[in-house]
Amino acid sequence: MSKKMRAAVVEEFGQGLVLQDVDIPTPGPGQILVKTEACGVCHTDLHAARGDWPLKPTPPFIPGHEGIGIVVALGTGVTAVKEGDRVGVPWLYSACGHCEHCLAAWETVCGEAEFGGYTKNGGFAEYILADPNYVAHIPAGLSATEAAPLICAGITTYKGIKETGARPGEWIVISGVGGLGHLGVQYAKALGLHVCAVDIDDSKLTHATQLGADATVNVKHPGAVEAVIKVTGGGAHGVLITAPSLTAFNQGIAMVRKRGTCVLVGLPPGEFPTPLFDVVANCITIRGSFVGTRQDMAEALAFAAEGKVKADIELQPLSAINHVFERLEQGDVPSRVVIDFSN
Ligand code: NAD
Ligand code: ZN
Ligand code: ZN
Repeated sequence: MSKKMRAAVVEEFGQGLVLQDVDIPTPGPGQILVKTEACGVCHTDLHAARGDWPLKPTPPFIPGHEGIGIVVALGTGVTAVKEGDRVGVPWLYSACGHCEHCLAAWETVCGEAEFGGYTKNGGFAEYILADPNYVAHIPAGLSATEAAPLICAGITTYKGIKETGARPGEWIVISGVGGLGHLGVQYAKALGLHVCAVDIDDSKLTHATQLGADATVNVKHPGAVEAVIKVTGGGAHGVLITAPSLTAFNQGIAMVRKRGTCVLVGLPPGEFPTPLFDVVANCITIRGSFVGTRQDMAEALAFAAEGKVKADIELQPLSAINHVFERLEQGDVPSRVVIDFSN
């Protein structure tokens, strides 16, 4: 094993990632070393590299929280995985395991949680250090590149759909049909929901139809909210907002049926006004949702292993990372770019 690995590093917020050779980390007690095979590029990596959010990572750091690879070394005391296992190193990198939230199997909101590619180095590198108690276990039959988008985009939309409470036969709006949303459409169909996909880009909507969406609406056009209310017969029972745009949040809340739930997962920086009277008088629930638990991860991966959900991927080398970021920023990535480490 060489002592150095290639990595894409955020040295300063708002600057391009710097490709450099850094030391391969050594797993300490209770840690594992994963040799990266693939890592998806999530819009969150852009927010991370720009320092968009109130909770900021500390440069220099290596982004990437859709890293899939093979366990190549174990620190002392590790029993949860063995060498040769294929695992994913997700956004929920670790949690304390004993606070009220961890005990309630809501480890995603643990106050001591660490985040992959954010507070811990992530998958835009040839090796990743990981906590074996929180890695995703990749089912046999799923390749590394296929699995990568599932461990953030997949789990986040699967969980978010469940959090809307929408039931089979009811309507859900999936707002934003990018990396997250194109999987959201498929999970919603697999869960028996009627899907109305909305985006500002017609090509994303065509893709949503190919993936099974029952209706699509381009929200750039006037009358879009009314069109969604019409097609859903009075508003959607659930709305899942994945779009990294504040406009989508205002529109999304207006698309909810009376007593329905709007789940927020997109994370553009900023705040948006809430139409208080409508929310109160229509008994609407607005709910945040943050990735998913380890149990959600297993369920989300099982849908893919059974062939019910399939990420649409474009492979790129690590050296293309800055160009991929530019395209993601411009809305120019059809679904998900996955960095391929196989060569
Ligand atoms: P993406 O860039 O791949 O996709 C975004 C999609 O939204 C694109 O198709 C774009 O055309 C569409 N869009 C843009 N403006 C819109 C608007 N006004 N209305 C409707 N659609 C619009 O991004 P992604 O990787 O899917 O991530 C989306 C967001 O979700 C990011 O903000 C990311 O940080 C966040 N995220 C949150 C969680 C969580 O746990 N809550 C997890 C992962 C990602
Ligand atoms: Zn993500
Ligand atoms: Zn905890």
